[in-house]
Amino acid sequence: MSDCPLLPVVGGDLLVPTVMGSEVRYTNLDYAASAPALEVVAEHVVRVLPLYASVHRGAGYASQVSTSVYESARVIVGDFVGARPGDEVIFTRNTTDSLNLLASIVPGETVFLDIEHHANLLPWVEKGGRVVVSADTIEQTLLRVDEELARRPAALLTVTGASNVTGETLPLRQLANIAHRYGTRLAVDAAQLLPHRRVNLQLQGIDYLAFSGHKAYAPFGAGVLVGRTDWLDAGPAYLRGGGAVTSVSVEKTEWRTGPSRHEAGSPNVVGVAALARAIQALDQLDETEWTAHEAGLRQRLVDGFDQLPEVRVHRIFSDSTDPVGVVSFTVDGVDSRLLATYLSAEWGIGVRDGKFCAHPLLRRLGITEPALRASFGLGSTDLDADRLIEAVTAFLRVGPTWNYDLVDGHWEV
Ligand code: PMP
Repeated sequence: MSDCPLLPVVGGDLLVPTVMGSEVRYTNLDYAASAPALEVVAEHVVRVLPLYASVHRGAGYASQVSTSVYESARVIVGDFVGARPGDEVIFTRNTTDSLNLLASIVPGETVFLDIEHHANLLPWVEKGGRVVVSADTIEQTLLRVDEELARRPAALLTVTGASNVTGETLPLRQLANIAHRYGTRLAVDAAQLLPHRRVNLQLQGIDYLAFSGHKAYAPFGAGVLVGRTDWLDAGPAYLRGGGAVTSVSVEKTEWRTGPSRHEAGSPNVVGVAALARAIQALDQLDETEWTAHEAGLRQRLVDGFDQLPEVRVHRIFSDSTDPVGVVSFTVDGVDSRLLATYLSAEWGIGVRDGKFCAHPLLRRLGITEPALRASFGLGSTDLDADRLIEAVTAFLRVGPTWNYDLVDGHWEV
């Protein structure tokens, strides 16, 4: 049973208007897009705001305070993800930024899977990376990765930790073992994994890890790339500007090493402080309770959908066992946009509809039209799953009770 939130989130009791004119409690089933901020995070942001200033900019009081907030966030994040001594923690805008930064410094070829979010696909496609087509099972997919790395060396293997479409997780330790056998490093897109599971670079053999604050219970603005220093210090500065250099003349620039090499410009101190506070809250969670909370919610939804023959829940692998709280589904003969609009307008339920920035994966799953995705997190309860099942059931029985029209790409009632 997950009958109460594991941690309170901002907007947990938010009332939203329905098209019928009544108000209902907002049912947030869209954690995978952006998770709501934890209440402790919002309180922390209010404390940080009065004294924020650009970091590493002299002896001004606010700048010193901000620098200390910013640099201690690096330590908090590095500790949480089990960074090795000397690993760099670089603050970026989000996972997309982190993976593009990684792509800009990789000294060789990259191998990636066809199940990735576009953020962990397009940077590698652009660089002529080699794709491994996933098989029906994870086991066979690992064999294919092994064969590809044996066939031709690669500098990097990059995989998602948890699929943003199906929530399925990949066996990272095994992937690291395969990669390292061929002298290849492992990068993990943890945008969907870190908000749901403990991740540990040392224990899991991960060389680079990317994630976003806004999916991990902090508001928008900050992302992270953590990983081995040598490539990061040898590669070109990701952004060119103030803070990334030790000396500049028009003829010659000396670039810093360390995180600041890639963090030119005034960084998002408030975003980073929020992210670090969220990480501290995740660090306090009992791991078993955390996993059980979400597994229970996910199972409750899937069991409810099993009672509705028109609803199809999608999965990539027939042997996956440990998915996070992300469930994608389609309903036979039903336009996903119409159903998502109905859920929102008549029930105050927020799900995601679309192709989830994972077009190759949707094709691989045989989904040709947009799909729907429900996702859970720390603020979710059984009631959220139950309301979605009830609403989809009502939709299938009676359909929308209001008339929705598609006007310029938006549904109007
Ligand atoms: N990877 C995965 C698995 C994701 O789910 C997302 C966000 N949907 C991203 C990368 C990109 O994250 P961001 O938009 O925060 O850069």
